[in-house]
Parts: sequence; structure tokens; C-alpha cells
Amino acid sequence: AKQRGRNAAAYYSRDLHEHIRHKLETGAGLRQALELQEFEVHYQPLVEAHTGAIQGVEALLRWRHPKKGMIPPGQFIPIAEETGQILDIGWWLLNEVNLHLEQWWHLGIKPIPVSVNISIKQLQHPLFLNRLKKQLQEPGISRTTLKLEITESIAMMNPKETMVNLEEIKALGLEISLDDFGTGFSSMNRLQTMPVQELKIDKSFICDLEKSDKHQAIVKTLVHLAHALDKKVVAEGVETKAQADMLDQYGCDLLQGYYYYRPMPSSDLTGVFLSKSGI
Ligand code: C2E
Ligand code: CA
Ligand code: CA
Ligand code: CA
Repeated sequence: AKQRGRNAAAYYSRDLHEHIRHKLETGAGLRQALELQEFEVHYQPLVEAHTGAIQGVEALLRWRHPKKGMIPPGQFIPIAEETGQILDIGWWLLNEVNLHLEQWWHLGIKPIPVSVNISIKQLQHPLFLNRLKKQLQEPGISRTTLKLEITESIAMMNPKETMVNLEEIKALGLEISLDDFGTGFSSMNRLQTMPVQELKIDKSFICDLEKSDKHQAIVKTLVHLAHALDKKVVAEGVETKAQADMLDQYGCDLLQGYYYYRPMPSSDLTGVFLSKSGI
């Protein structure tokens, strides 16, 4: 047992070492990425369940690494959160979104609500609200509705502080969306009083909707719950027509997923907008 204990400790310290090395390397890479403009914002439309009409887009960060190719956000955002770099990256993203909104405006495209993912580090930063206020005055963003997506688990982690922040954000005219809903153990009491306009049902409940009676029951219940609390409800990760039809039947308001659109660069989205408006 002693021997095993020693091995376990050795493994542990090797893992830890590897983790630290990976973190330092990625952290340095992220710093460069901002300078060298390796980040991109991609957009995935949210559509009205009943008609398929685009009602908004979610901005999703992409890192085009010169050697490693496209790195998915799941591989660098946790590190950017740990190192605090998510703050600069988040402001970069909002600025980029503003530029895209301006471009669309100049092309005669009607302003579209944009959802942006916000991490706890950003939300809790003392200067966050002030800087956000300034960003809201930028021409592109000022013409549309900005929605902040905050995961359910974050919102419930630090309820008092989060509540105050969210109230102020709402007062600025932004909307708030609870992301990954159904995975974060909301208390019903808090959910009812939280200034949140939209619940986004996590894709883990959607991916096997056709086959899972349990997930059908959960999703129906979450849709009812959202509507009982006067909130809109979005399903993410919709990949099939069968899923889309079921979700529409349940009364889900908005749908998002590969069945409709994959996340795409802004230029591709411009093409989608222009082809829809028939210019
Ligand atoms: P999320 O906010 O839950 O975003 C939804 C994820 O589901 C996206 O992954 C999207 O590409 C993917 N997705 C969309 N439709 C489908 C589908 O039909 N099937 C499946 N299997 N997946 C689908 P992505 O872009 O890799 O982003 C992963 C996560 O990274 C996001 O999860 C979000 O938590 C985080 N993230 C992305 N951009 C940002 C950002 O700018 N700031 C912060 N703080 N986090 C971000
Ligand atoms: Ca999201
Ligand atoms: Ca989500
Ligand atoms: Ca997620």
C-alpha cells in the first residue's frame, strides 16, 4: 500500500507539473494571440422554433493558431479564466462584435440581437460595469440588443453578489440569458427573483431527445417552468428535424444548433443575411 501511495504521489506531481506547464505555455500563447490577431468571432444564429426565422446570433470565440490550427474554446477559455486573460479577450470580442454590427448596418442589414458569453471573472471584475457602459455607446452595439449569457452554475454560485450585478446590467438595457440550464441546480426561489429574461436548455438534454423518455420529460418541464416565470426558452444543440419538431411542439421559443446553422465567420453570416433579405 505504501508503494502504491508513493506511485500515486509521483503520478499526482507529474500531472500537476504537466498541468502547470500546459497552463504557462497556453497563457503565453494567448498573450501573443491577442497581439497577432489570431482570435476570430464566429456567429451561430438562433431561430424562431415555429418559422425557422433568425432572431439573434450567439458570438463564439475561435483561436486560429498558426501551427496548431483552429483551437476550440473549451481548450483555452478555462486557462484564460485562470490567468485572468479572459478579461482582455472579452473586451476584444465585444469590440469585434461592434465592428461586425457596424458593417451589417452599412450593408442595410437590420440590427440583430447578439448573445455574448461572459465568465465569472468578467462579471465580478470591479470595472466590468463601467467598461460595459462605454461599450454600449459604440455605434454598432448601441443599435441592437446585447444579451449576456451566464451559466446557471455561475449564477447560483455566488447568488447575492451575482444578483446585484445582474440587476445593474439589466438597468443598462441588456438582457441576461441563463446558459447550460438544467445542469446547475438552480433554486426555484432564486430563479424566480433573478433578473433573467431567457433560459437556454443545455444541449445534453437535446442530443438524445428522440430516444430518451426522461429527457423528453425534463425538457417539457423546463419549457413550462420558463414560461411560468415569464422567461423565453431556448434549446441549444438541435441537430435533427425530429428534435426541432418536438421542441416546437413543447412550445420552446428559440432553437439553435447544427440542424439550422453551424457557427460561421461574420462574412458567411453576411451572406446569409443578404440572401434572406433578397437584396
Ligand atoms: P456554450 O456557450 O454552451 O456554446 C454552445 C456550444 O455548442 C458551442 O461550442 C457551439 O459551437 C456548440 N454547438 C452549437 N450547435 C451545436 C449542435 O447542434 N451540436 C453540438 N454538439 N454542439 C453545438 P464552442 O463554440 O466550442 O464553445 C464551447 C464553449 O466555450 C461555449 O459553450 C462557451 O461556454 C465557451 N465560449 C465560447 N466563446 C466564448 C467567449 O467569447 N467567452 C467565454 N467566456 N466563453 C466562451
Ligand atoms: Ca452560450
Ligand atoms: Ca450552452
Ligand atoms: Ca456549454
